[in-house]
Amino acid sequence: MADKNVLIIGGGVAGLSAAVELADLDIQVELVEKSNFLGGHAIGYACKAIHNTCVKCGACMVEEKLQSAVSHPNIKILTGSQVQNISKNHRFSASIRQEFLYIDPQKCTNCGLCFDRCPVDRAILQGFSKSNHPFFAVNKERCLYFKDQSCTICKDECPETAIDLDKKASEHTIEADAVLIATGFQPFNSKDKPYGYGRFKNVVTGLDMERMIKRTGCVKKSSDNKTPEQIAFIQCVGSRDAKLNHLWCSKVCCGSALRMARLIKERQPETEITFFYMDVQTFGKDFEQFYRETREDIRMIRTIPGDFYEMDDQRLKVNFVNNLTHETMEEIFDLVVLSVGITPCEDIGTLSRMFKIGPDEFGFLKTDDKDMSVSKNGVFTAGTVQGAMSIPETIAGAGSAAWKIVKYFDGLKR
Ligand SMILES: Cc1cc2nc3c(=O)[nH]c(=O)nc-3n(C[C@H](O)[C@H](O)[C@H](O)COP(=O)(O)OP(=O)(O)OC[C@H]3O[C@@H](n4cnc5c(N)ncnc54)[C@H](O)[C@@H]3O)c2cc1C
Repeated sequence: MADKNVLIIGGGVAGLSAAVELADLDIQVELVEKSNFLGGHAIGYACKAIHNTCVKCGACMVEEKLQSAVSHPNIKILTGSQVQNISKNHRFSASIRQEFLYIDPQKCTNCGLCFDRCPVDRAILQGFSKSNHPFFAVNKERCLYFKDQSCTICKDECPETAIDLDKKASEHTIEADAVLIATGFQPFNSKDKPYGYGRFKNVVTGLDMERMIKRTGCVKKSSDNKTPEQIAFIQCVGSRDAKLNHLWCSKVCCGSALRMARLIKERQPETEITFFYMDVQTFGKDFEQFYRETREDIRMIRTIPGDFYEMDDQRLKVNFVNNLTHETMEEIFDLVVLSVGITPCEDIGTLSRMFKIGPDEFGFLKTDDKDMSVSKNGVFTAGTVQGAMSIPETIAGAGSAAWKIVKYFDGLKR
């Protein structure tokens, strides 16, 4: 199959896994990733092994796929890039725009001086995996140079002269025999629920927590950087919510939040954790034992709180109805974690129009067969662009999409 090539859109675990499967079969892959870093959401997740025992959260699998993809000779990667338009005449012809490559990967040594010296928080972004090179990127949204040209510290101090803040976007064309859409999901926007996210400092999302634990190994309150004594996890934020017309279960949040809660309990045993839930989505064959042990450490309350209030000391007052006694209760927590669900990715409308694939009733990319792959005219999908799924499910689905592409190529020969 050395004469065939595939364009993969999206460099999360779905895109990376499919890329490696195809590249191992000697198929050339061009992987186009919109952001500065590969790995999607899951590259920011922490390993949640408890007492050094794996709890199968899947986080390490993403790093593995990323390492294999970046070192594979049959995979060409374009970060900071997007497909502008695509046409098909026997083969696909996609015009790609590459932006934001202000740090030259050929020159950068990942010394981190740009990150250390930058005066503005988050104007230089840091990746989560050293397999991403460069490990740093300029964030145009926050960089002072892009605001009023008042700062060039990163450029001036880079010992390798790797930073060019005037670098222009480049455009080029990729020809491909098949396209795989693996553009993933976007987390539910917690500001759409009355939980004070973005207003109350000590209300964070599950994703914020993942990244905090991955970077620092522990959990601190955003208000004063002290260890929280009481943490509340609130499940189903943006999932199974008729008012939002989000009727689907995001499937991964219970497992992710429970594993995280247990990890916090192991590292910070003095922290009391309360878990507010509707019902618990099971995961894997070890679930029963995991859940039994979890309930010894974590207080489980089967209800979803109504309102939160921020107190003068920035702790949160949480109101809820006790499902057993039907009493209205009020409790105070140092930190509240919102388990945000999986919603269709930002570009779903554009992709749907570009590839003429209708979104399904929930807004994910419509699939046309039981094992969830759209194979219309050489266009395939994989991962959470299809709907909520875990990392192992995403990897399995990406493998299956890769095999469908191979079958499609076989069909073209006949
Ligand atoms: C709070 C939370 C916790 C979770 N915890 C776990 C867990 O513990 N275990 C587990 O198994 N699963 C977990 N998951 C699920 C896990 O995040 C997904 O299974 C996984 O990220 C899916 O990978 P993906 O590649 O489909 O999507 P993504 O991770 O979203 O990656 C998609 C990639 O495509 C890129 N992209 C988007 N649009 C474009 C475009 N137009 N052009 C080019 N590139 C584009 C994005 O920048 C991104 O890099 C969790 C999910 C959430 C919300």
